[in-house]
Amino acid sequence: MSKKILIINTGGTLSSVMRKNGLIPGLSIHDMLEELQMVSGDTDIEIEDFCSLDSANIFPEDWSTLALRISDCRNDYDGIVVIHGTDTLAYTSSMLSFMLRNIGIPVVITGSQLSITDPVADAMENLRCAIHMAARKIPGVFVAFNRKVMLGCRTSKVRSLSFDAFESINYPNIATISSLGMKINENVVPERTGIFKLANHYSEKVCMIKMFPGIHRDVIESLAELGYKGIYIEAYGIGGMPNVKHDFVGALEKLIKEGITVVVGTQCRYEGTKMDVYETGKRALEIGALEAHDMTGEAALTKLMWILGMTDNLSEIRDYYSLNVAGEMHKI
Ligand code: ASP
Repeated sequence: MSKKILIINTGGTLSSVMRKNGLIPGLSIHDMLEELQMVSGDTDIEIEDFCSLDSANIFPEDWSTLALRISDCRNDYDGIVVIHGTDTLAYTSSMLSFMLRNIGIPVVITGSQLSITDPVADAMENLRCAIHMAARKIPGVFVAFNRKVMLGCRTSKVRSLSFDAFESINYPNIATISSLGMKINENVVPERTGIFKLANHYSEKVCMIKMFPGIHRDVIESLAELGYKGIYIEAYGIGGMPNVKHDFVGALEKLIKEGITVVVGTQCRYEGTKMDVYETGKRALEIGALEAHDMTGEAALTKLMWILGMTDNLSEIRDYYSLNVAGEMHKI
C-alpha cells in the first residue's frame, strides 16, 4: 500500500516569487502541486498551507501551533513534510524535536536555496529527499537538504548561498542519497524513550548573547532588569568568558542567585564546550551555569525556551537541561 504523506507549507525561498521589493514567498502549496507530484513517486500526498512567510518572520508561537497541527494529524499519515525557509529552519527543526519528542512518525523539514519556479533550483531534489524520508517509517524530526537527512536538533545552516547549506553538527548524518539510493544509518537514529505527548510550551523570556572582546557586564545586568528568565551565552572556545577587566562571571553569579538560568555554549561550530579546563569556565560552573556541551546554538537556545516554558522550578530546569532529550547533546 502506498504511504500517505502530508506536506505542510510555511513559505521560504522554495515557494518564492519576485516582487517589486525583492523575493517573497508567494506560491501557495496548491500552486506547487504539479512539482510535488513529480517527485512524490508512489507516495500518496496531501497538501496544506500553514503560512506563507520568509522564515525571518517565524516566531516561537508559530513553532507551537505547527507542533499542535502535526500532533493533531499524526495518526492520519505515515509521515509529514514541512516546507520552510532556510534562514531559521534549524531553530524550527530543533524546537520541533523537543515539542514533538517521541512522535511515532517521521517529520521531515526541508526548503531550498532557489525557488521551485527556477528550472535549475535545488527545490525538487530537496522535496524528493524529504518525501521519501517521510515514507520510511523512521520516527523523529529530521531535516532533508542537498541529498542528506540530518537529525533536526543537530542541524545548522552553515552556508548562505550554496546548495549544501546545512550540516549535521557533532553528529553523523541520518541518511544520504547517492547512486546506491537512499542509505539510512539506523544506528544513529535516537531511540524513542517514551510515549508521545505534545509539549508545545515555550518561554519567550530567553536571550542569546555572543561574547566579543569589549563586551561589558552591564549587557548581562540589563537582561535581568528586563525580566529575562534564561540566557544562552555563546562563549569562547571550550566555554571561556572574561573575568578580569569586566567580571562577567561575577555578573552571572548575581543573576543565577536571582533565579535566572544561564547556559554557556561556544562560538566554535564543532566539538562543543569543556568548561572544567580553564579557570574562567570552571568558575562559571561553580556559580551554577549550565554547560551546552556539543549542542548547536539553535538546539541550546530552543531547549532553554522549551524547558522554561514547562517549569519555574530551578532544580527541575537544571535536571531537564542536563538530559539528552532528543539526541541533541552528548557530554564530552
Ligand atoms: N529568506 C529565506 C527564508 O528563510 C531564505 C530561504 O528560504 O532560503 O525564508
